[in-house]
Amino acid sequence: MIYLDNASTTRLRPEARAAMQAAAFGNPSSIHAAGRAARKLVEDARETIAESYGGDPKGLVFTSCATEADNLAVLGVAEALRARGNHVIASAVEHPAVLEACAALSRIGYEISRAPVDEDGKIDLSVLERLVTPRTILISVMTGNNEVGTLQPIEAVAEIARARKIPFHTDAAQAAGKIPFRFTADLVTLSAHKMHGPRGAGALWIRPGTPIVPRQVGGGHEFELRAGTENVEAIAGFAEAVRAAEAERSEVVPLMERLRALLEEGLRAAAPMRVNGHPTERLPHILNVTFPGVDGEAMVVALDAEGMCVSSGSACASQSLIPSHVLKAMGRGDEETRASVRFSLGRDTTEEDIGAAVAAVPKLVARLRAISPVVRP
Ligand code: PLP
Repeated sequence: MIYLDNASTTRLRPEARAAMQAAAFGNPSSIHAAGRAARKLVEDARETIAESYGGDPKGLVFTSCATEADNLAVLGVAEALRARGNHVIASAVEHPAVLEACAALSRIGYEISRAPVDEDGKIDLSVLERLVTPRTILISVMTGNNEVGTLQPIEAVAEIARARKIPFHTDAAQAAGKIPFRFTADLVTLSAHKMHGPRGAGALWIRPGTPIVPRQVGGGHEFELRAGTENVEAIAGFAEAVRAAEAERSEVVPLMERLRALLEEGLRAAAPMRVNGHPTERLPHILNVTFPGVDGEAMVVALDAEGMCVSSGSACASQSLIPSHVLKAMGRGDEETRASVRFSLGRDTTEEDIGAAVAAVPKLVARLRAISPVVRP
């Protein structure tokens, strides 16, 4: 199997698996020895992860995934600051975990503004600034996009937000471990399984002092911000995944970029296509392309039959055939949007994998274009 869908999820790395197998079994809330061993593991993991990105460990709240962290950030801050205002700004290309949390807020009286993006998927800072009102209580702009990879100017957004004392959330689920990254936002979302860690662990880092209330209650866990017994094994694997990703990043990422360039060049030479996303300011592992006249879903199915896993649009949202909101926000029409395929690389992607994709994709493009109702000869 050739796996080029690492933006959906990644293979568990051996170091993370070993850390999970070695994890203490006790309940971290128990005061006996078994509980204390598990508590130490959770607190060590909190320190490893927070300090890897220059943050105070006391701000790191473990969750089950990035979706939960995004929900906690958006809904938790909005509720905490309701008396100050009811306006939230999110970029138009956020993950549904942010956009649907915003939609839930709009149903209970909040006002939501979507910061638009240009054709490369970048937000316009001057437009963002103009969207701010005295009632704005949260800005959410992701670090790197999961569909097209475009990086956002989050340091500049942080400055705009800080100058107006508005909490700023960034979803870094795709970016952490792939780019030099520090906690510059007030709230940061992370996810273990996007970086060769296990499913079942994510985190929201919260700058101490940021107003927020929990979404999940029923215990004093995680600084009273996320009730429920911690997933100790997954947290152990998460910390190991972060530590290892940061340790190898300077070696692995240039390799990944070289392989992605090979893939892009190989495909471009053999099939008409357009690359979606910013040409240079882009996550290193994502290549999203439009093959005009080719149905992206049909392409995914055809590649699957050849033993290759890729994704059309965003896998998290692709159970339906709704065209990608990200490509739409970038100004692409429905047809172009449906004709897009996302290849995403991991630390274990090889030159052979890329060679196989370059050999298989153009043949399928030609076949699918031949039966396409929209391509005229
Ligand atoms: N945020 C981004 C940017 C993502 O790419 C994803 C998953 O694709 C999520 C959030 C949701 O991640 P999780 O599966 O950890 O809930």
